[in-house]
Amino acid sequence: GFQQTQGNIIPRFVRVNTLKTTLDDVIDYLKREGFSYQGTTMRLEDLDHLSGKTFLCDLHLKDLLVFSSKTDFHNHFLYKAGHIILQDKASCLPAFLLNPPVGSHVIDACAAPGNKTSHLAAIMKNKGKLFAFDLDAKRLSTMSTLLLRAGVTCHQLANQDFLKVDPLSSEYKEVKYILLDPSCSGSGMVCLRDEVSEPQEDGRLQALAAFQLHCLNHALQFPQVQRVVYSTCSIHTQENEEVVSACLQHNPGFRLVNLLPNWHERGHNPFTQCLRASTEKTRTHGFFVAMLERRPLQTEGQN
Ligand code: SAM
Repeated sequence: GFQQTQGNIIPRFVRVNTLKTTLDDVIDYLKREGFSYQGTTMRLEDLDHLSGKTFLCDLHLKDLLVFSSKTDFHNHFLYKAGHIILQDKASCLPAFLLNPPVGSHVIDACAAPGNKTSHLAAIMKNKGKLFAFDLDAKRLSTMSTLLLRAGVTCHQLANQDFLKVDPLSSEYKEVKYILLDPSCSGSGMVCLRDEVSEPQEDGRLQALAAFQLHCLNHALQFPQVQRVVYSTCSIHTQENEEVVSACLQHNPGFRLVNLLPNWHERGHNPFTQCLRASTEKTRTHGFFVAMLERRPLQTEGQN
């Protein structure tokens, strides 16, 4: 029946751009427009009961609002002015989890069209340096527009292959945080999933996984890097846990960070430190996030 199908619907997530406004100002603005604010999400089912002009604050991400899936903000003032970003909850996780400090040097390795870059800039309060790379010139030009609208100023965009960025260049000597969101099969995107109902061609997945592993290994070559977040919008183990597994084997100086203990959908065994997301369990697109951190230097024995 109708109630049962509700659980398959992804609500409309709206990230408040704190470079331009505040959560309270956006909530007030929307209330004056007739929206009804219902407080913070308590249970997953709350999201299935959103309708009309009611909205909630997300349970995990502070500056994220949730509306019924039918809500369209594409022509809304707040969107056009860059005060809100239309971004699925799962895709807000990487920057939120990387959480680079204000003033830090950060790389966004595969950045276009730039929603995660703008999220990183908001977390950094536009202070520090945000090096953003992408191979695709057209996507980068879309990204420039998006970053301008979002008021991002701490970035440096480059139309460059991340795999050819020299980790030993003095430009990146202070980079401690890297976000890596490389091209993937997109098998977690719900709108794509219906069209691509045939199973993914294995050769294609293998090529993607090899590329993703190459990127992840490359990210760990930056001499000062402390934390790397790896994410995909794929549901395939091959592009997710298997990439992380192979990378850790190559890089014994790094380990996984246990992410959000109260997030129930975890990476497949034994990679339960990582997060997964899905329509069924988190009311988002299918997604995967891992965070690797450099192991602290072992102090020599005292004998
Ligand atoms: N992080 C982006 C965001 O949140 O808006 C989405 C990134 S999308 C999943 C992957 C991007 O990687 C594409 O824009 C693609 O052009 C780019 N890409 C693919 N190969 C690359 C490479 N070798 N170096 C840099 N970027 C690459």
